[in-house]
Amino acid sequence: EEKVNYKDSQKFGDHMKNMDSVSTFALEKTIKEQREYLPVFAVRQSILKVIRDNSVVIIVGETGSGKTTQLTQYLYEAGYGKQGVIGCTQPRRVAAMSVAARVAEEMGVPLGEEVGYAIRFEDKTSDKTVIKYMTDGILLRECLSDPDLDNYNVIIMDEAHERSVNTDVLFGLLREVVSRRSDLKLIVTSATMDAEKFANFFGGNTPNFVIPGRTFPVDIHHRRAPVEDYVDEAVKQAIQIHLGAIDGDILIFMPGQEDIEVSSALISEKLNSLESAPPLAVLPIYSQLPSEKQAKIFQRAPGGIRKCIVATNIAETSLTVDGIFFVIDPGYCKMKVFNSKVGMDALQVYPISQASANQRSGRAGRTGPGQCYRLYTSRQFKDEMLVTTVPEIQRTNLANVVLMLKSLNVDDLLKFHFMDPPPQENMMNSMYTLWTLGALDNAGQLTDLGRTMADFPLDPALSKMLITSAKMGCSEEILTIVSMLSVPSIFIRPKGKEEEADSRKEKFQVSESDHLSLLNVFNEWKKKKWSSRWCKDNYIQAKAMQRAREVRGQLQEIMESDKLEIISSGTDWDIVRKCICSAYFPNATRLKGIGEYVSLRTGIPCFLHPTSSLFGMGYTPDYVVYHEIIMTTKEYMQCVTAVEGAWLAELGPMFYSLKEQALTYNERIQQTIRANETMEDELKSSEAQKVV
Ligand code: ADP
Ligand code: MG
Repeated sequence: EEKVNYKDSQKFGDHMKNMDSVSTFALEKTIKEQREYLPVFAVRQSILKVIRDNSVVIIVGETGSGKTTQLTQYLYEAGYGKQGVIGCTQPRRVAAMSVAARVAEEMGVPLGEEVGYAIRFEDKTSDKTVIKYMTDGILLRECLSDPDLDNYNVIIMDEAHERSVNTDVLFGLLREVVSRRSDLKLIVTSATMDAEKFANFFGGNTPNFVIPGRTFPVDIHHRRAPVEDYVDEAVKQAIQIHLGAIDGDILIFMPGQEDIEVSSALISEKLNSLESAPPLAVLPIYSQLPSEKQAKIFQRAPGGIRKCIVATNIAETSLTVDGIFFVIDPGYCKMKVFNSKVGMDALQVYPISQASANQRSGRAGRTGPGQCYRLYTSRQFKDEMLVTTVPEIQRTNLANVVLMLKSLNVDDLLKFHFMDPPPQENMMNSMYTLWTLGALDNAGQLTDLGRTMADFPLDPALSKMLITSAKMGCSEEILTIVSMLSVPSIFIRPKGKEEEADSRKEKFQVSESDHLSLLNVFNEWKKKKWSSRWCKDNYIQAKAMQRAREVRGQLQEIMESDKLEIISSGTDWDIVRKCICSAYFPNATRLKGIGEYVSLRTGIPCFLHPTSSLFGMGYTPDYVVYHEIIMTTKEYMQCVTAVEGAWLAELGPMFYSLKEQALTYNERIQQTIRANETMEDELKSSEAQKVV
């Protein structure tokens, strides 16, 4: 094992003297004492002064210094909440919810009153709300109805270093808003990266306020050789630490929910098989976990036993848990990246950046000196990891962003003030997507359809599906389907009951469509008067169903305010499938073999997912459209519906025609490329005309 000393702390000695018991510190102090112990507290007055004197301030501080939970309260206490809301954006939903709950607790008020939060489809604020946490996506949507954000007196753009697409777009928009509104305070906070860049973006005089940090040294252990299976290795490492004598909680980073569940189960299993192993509280955290369970990571484990938190990179900078002394870092995270092979964004596992790796190891040094076990070599760190993560805006499809900016009358997207402009090709791709859906015309201008699409907080294809359904006469059905697609998976498969769960699920399945199967589940549940008992009996997640029902209500409201008719197609399921086809025709595939299809646009093979209702049913439609592709060992289509070849020609004429179905895939690819080029030329010439 090699050892590298991560960071020496100047203040290490001072703080050690003040701490009686390092590991249980936060758990035994009152809330007031905890607040006053945070690094940001020492600079409270000077922060308030710099905010008073400037309209934009960048605040930089180590993760855990108190930026997210304290700044809003300081501003509130200083009276900033009197003329308007103090808003604070978060790139992650879990963080917005969890932090709002914490701040409400610190202030001793019920969540949803003075302190609230808003995430997509869930608004926990009221007239009383003065401190509002929200996702950056929510604030971006609010810009559509209120471009000057008059509701707000202060906006804190938190976690700016994450560089989510929404944050990046907000940067460009808010830069203009502060120049129009001298009364608005804009605060941008970041962990220790990129601060200079933020200041420069907002103009030379923007001050950079640094919260003096308090970090303890962390020993970093690299592997001598690359590991084969990071889940196995992480499990082994955790058990080795746990069986060692030293106290302190463990934090393991995993790329996603599945790995988290598997590794948590393995750790518990292995410990159970060992005689006289001390107890360990294994606590997962990821975005789809119910919030009561999420809150557990912050609580003391029963009996004060050691905690082992298994987290996605939510725990990298968004959420800070005190008492972590050991970090296990496999070096991977899940990222959304535009995949040119499948022609759309795909969520895939990638190596993290060096900056992320350093953030992760820093988590071990918050309450005392710690240890970080990297499951990769120092050579891998140097040679295979990027220095910083590529901002999302440079690696994903931007159709939603383009739609939003066009609705805000930002006509010339190439001139929008981006901190890091997306590659022109990305922008063109995204405009092309919108053009195929009919949201943009040949000159790149927003159509009426596009304008209405922007009213929905959904992916463009789903908005289009809803709007089309009103015309086709099946909006009751499509409303349900879109809502069901907007919540996490509803089917549960408990350990030991897999067969029973599968046979219950089968009863709901409609052989030609996963979308119709979802509709079926919802309608059955409705017939049972929304019973949670019924959900339980059928291995269906009641919470997710309730959520789908709420989402449906909200989407219905938007449709009604847009005067889109809410109408049922009765038992005409074909019209529902055709409506699905009207939005998903770009994702069409043609039958090639059993369970195997070929993408009509890109020619790559796509497979039915084993969870699909079309899988292994002996029913093999010639054409299917899919909701998305998930890439594991191969390209699997997730959520599939059988469609007619004639519908594809009718609804997606830019891609398909009846005659062309005789063409080879290669010929078809060539055609798509040509169509793409024509589109680009047209867009370029229309942009050029505008400049003249
Ligand atoms: P920063 O934003 O600078 O990373 P935070 O304001 O998120 O820092 O965290 C400050 C402190 O508040 C940390 O010690 C953290 O453990 C604590 N904290 C944050 N959220 C919760 C919560 N839900 N429950 C308990 N403690 C929390
Ligand atoms: Mg924070």
